[in-house]
Amino acid sequence: MLFDTHGRIHDYLRISLTEKCNLRCTYCMPEEGIKLRSKSHFMTSDEIITFAKTFVGLGVKKIRITGGEPLVNKDIKRILTELSKLPVELSITTNAVLLHDYFDLLKELNIGKLNISIDSLDEASFNRISRRKHFDVVMKNIRKAIDLNFEVKLNVVVIKGVNEHEVIDFVKWSERDKVAVRFIEFMPFDGNKWDWSKVVSQQDMLNDVKSHYVENTIIQLQEDDHIIARDYQITGAKGTFGFISTITNSFCGTCNRIRLTADGKIKNCLFSADETDLLTVLRSGGDLESHIRTSITNKHPQNAGIDFSDKETLLDQRPMTAIGG
Ligand code: SAM
Ligand code: SF4
Repeated sequence: MLFDTHGRIHDYLRISLTEKCNLRCTYCMPEEGIKLRSKSHFMTSDEIITFAKTFVGLGVKKIRITGGEPLVNKDIKRILTELSKLPVELSITTNAVLLHDYFDLLKELNIGKLNISIDSLDEASFNRISRRKHFDVVMKNIRKAIDLNFEVKLNVVVIKGVNEHEVIDFVKWSERDKVAVRFIEFMPFDGNKWDWSKVVSQQDMLNDVKSHYVENTIIQLQEDDHIIARDYQITGAKGTFGFISTITNSFCGTCNRIRLTADGKIKNCLFSADETDLLTVLRSGGDLESHIRTSITNKHPQNAGIDFSDKETLLDQRPMTAIGG
């Protein structure tokens, strides 16, 4: 088992399969894109599988596949097939642009949980945010995922002046369909022009919801042990909505997450500038377990020790697309 020095167990691994993406979301991908590096810098499929097995041996029970966009990885089929043989709950975070090609495989492998990013229900706004024109296919694939009974979470990054006026439309969607809408507070990463004035807090969004619905129809749902979002439901709704309030009300106290970047570095926190180069350890025949344990031991109690009000401490971040959300 992987415990840190604050008594938190770490049994949830997010593996990024690539830094590349077929969208260019403004909050994630720098305008100029990311610096391309040769293949040798990145984990091969076999290395990904080896790492996953190592972490499972250390008590990891959940693996989420992410990126960049994981479905642009050419070997995704083999990777998912191999990971699905491990005794873990396997899930994927995707922008859904290519999802139609993978429904059959996901069903076959019993991968039933999909987190899908969708930041606007308006085509022009979706295109502006993602800097690409894939609105129709994304909406169609979300519909299909719901109809095929996947457990669908919809990730919505809410940014002031961009899409905060759509919060209620997304809550209404959670009334109609069995989806879990997750409103995510805008977080700072390299190249995404973050500042406090663009953050829409959980409280702001909840106030918005409260001004549209009669108060006693908004039910707060019970939190689980390792909460990632604070969830609510409108009475009679098929789905739920919730807030990932990393900026104004973090979930660090019960954090059980470890991240493995596409270039094989462990990040013990989304905001940690310190990384452990696990890929070099593997390639040089070193001791993976001791490096993993040291990384987890060094984990800060909260947000990698970052103070969001101090601009200097934000400078060491990678772009989100090179971390893996
Ligand atoms: N490409 C996939 C997708 O978009 O779902 C997976 C990778 S993406 C980096 C994972 C999640 O991180 C997405 O839900 C995205 O909305 C979220 N994300 C990226 N940048 C963010 C930021 N600056 N603040 C909050 N969430 C962010
Ligand atoms: Fe790509 Fe996902 Fe980042 Fe958007 S949020 S640019 S879809 S990796």
